[in-house]
Amino acid sequence: MDCLFCKIAAGEIPSRKVYEDDQILAFYDIEPQAPVHFLVIPKKHISSVGGITPENSQIVAHIYEVIAKLSHDLKLENGFRVVTNCGEEAGQSVPHLHFHVLAGRSLAWPPG
Ligand code: AMP
Ligand code: ZN
Repeated sequence: MDCLFCKIAAGEIPSRKVYEDDQILAFYDIEPQAPVHFLVIPKKHISSVGGITPENSQIVAHIYEVIAKLSHDLKLENGFRVVTNCGEEAGQSVPHLHFHVLAGRSLAWPPG
């Protein structure tokens, strides 16, 4: 499949890794929107939150457990945001489920 994040998960395209296990990968965003900005993806292709089903939803719990651990390891105690854009109007540019983790500056709410 011609999917950028499947290729990154497979190691065919290099990334700056934050965390990896057999199911998921976390790597720094190439165009950071905050001093800390990394992405967490399942290695198995899921298109977006819209592709989460009872059969594959366990991966989301695992992703959030790892985000919690990384938030402690990276000392994000001042706050961080987890965002997943779904579809065109939300600004999803890569159609492989990914969770942005943003930290290190004050983040506006509501988002633009
Ligand atoms: P979204 O626009 O929500 O789909 O997020 C996709 C994110 O992937 C953007 O923040 C991009 O900067 C990021 N991105 C695109 N290509 C790469 C890459 N090769 N390595 C790391 N991040 C990337
Ligand atoms: Zn993919």
